[in-house]
Amino acid sequence: MKCSSCGTGRLEPSYFEGLFACHSCSSCEGDLILLGDFMRWQELNPESDFSPIAEVEVVLEDTSRAMICPLSGTIMTKYRISADTEHRLDLSPTINAVWLDKGEWDLLKKQGLANQLNAIFTNHWQREIRAVETSEVLKELYERKFGEHYQQIKAFKNVIDTVGNRSEVIAYLLADDPYKVSS
Ligand SMILES: [Zn+2]
Repeated sequence: MKCSSCGTGRLEPSYFEGLFACHSCSSCEGDLILLGDFMRWQELNPESDFSPIAEVEVVLEDTSRAMICPLSGTIMTKYRISADTEHRLDLSPTINAVWLDKGEWDLLKKQGLANQLNAIFTNHWQREIRAVETSEVLKELYERKFGEHYQQIKAFKNVIDTVGNRSEVIAYLLADDPYKVSS
């Protein structure tokens, strides 16, 4: 089967890292993995751990172009892997096959995500990434709005959140002069 990533190599049956079945391209060194194979292997080897590798230089190609699944012939969907990187992985949604470009497995290991390859493609995982990004955007917005007082305001919010009479504290803060009874 022809490699739809590089268009020149052929995908041949192989073993991913010598562990479970995959198809590998002899030319671009990409791999096509059925998530079912990955999960079955993980079930049989529960003690396995693709520990994070910190000191590896990960070289990645641009992955912005759409990829056709070499098995099903359908367009693959791109999924963000974490909030820390814009990098996305290709999934063939009809057959749950992941395409890993050369270097992408190293990137997953480096991010400590290789053990969770299958989880990346769930709605929950993708929602979490968006939630982290939203919270970072809001943090920047508050930093801009509150300027030098941001840390103090934040610390004070933590105080208010723990007191029992929160609304009274807020009323005190909002009053022009809390030591006068308004007429
Ligand atoms: Zn290839």
